[in-house]
Amino acid sequence: MESLSATCARCGGTGWILEAVEGRKQAHPCSCRTQTIAKERLEAARIPERYRDDNFTNFNDQTPELARAKEIAREFAESYPAVESGLLLVGPAGLGKTHLACAILSELVLTKGVSALYADFSDLLLRIQTSFRPDADVSKESVLTPYAEAELLVLDELGASKPHPWVLDVLYNLLNTRYNRKRITIATSNFEDDAAAASGEREKLEDRIGYRLRSRLYEMCTLVALRGKDYRKEILGTHVRSRF
Ligand SMILES: [Zn+2]
Repeated sequence: MESLSATCARCGGTGWILEAVEGRKQAHPCSCRTQTIAKERLEAARIPERYRDDNFTNFNDQTPELARAKEIAREFAESYPAVESGLLLVGPAGLGKTHLACAILSELVLTKGVSALYADFSDLLLRIQTSFRPDADVSKESVLTPYAEAELLVLDELGASKPHPWVLDVLYNLLNTRYNRKRITIATSNFEDDAAAASGEREKLEDRIGYRLRSRLYEMCTLVALRGKDYRKEILGTHVRSRF
């Protein structure tokens, strides 16, 4: 991707193309200018370095379930903002839940100019906790407002750490605010309600994030389960209630 600092062949790095139309000079923004804005917006979304190049093309859809999950993610990105709810991507580690979430985020930032934010669950909880300390050098509002206001929020690794109930309350209020403002949230988790189905995690999502937050998430998101190669033989004969 070009930037204004690297010299652009079309505009010489100024970001503008000058033309003489009927004897008068006119300036048009060069395409590198919009690319730079998109790149800055993507940087502002704070996607971790290792997920920055994740897209739909380089997603490894090794099973029919994963191919289906990718299609759902792609359709979601195409339909946005005409979507009813966000997505809750669940399944074992290593199948690409974060990859799909970040692919959607990048796609929407780059093609639709969406203001989006990535948040690692444990990291966000730590930020919340720190901001509530009496000696905190940042205000609660300055920490929480960007997450409440981002058009699209990716909340990654839900349940990865087990927070104090009061921190969960703050997070609940944050997601509730997003819900009331009809802002879309995409979450990922290794923890599922049907714990036997795939994840190998003994605890359920509800055990990790509490009933209230889990219920709110289910109202805000469509559940999409990612399943790997071992899935079918593992659950053979087991009744699975998820959609995919
Ligand atoms: Zn240019």
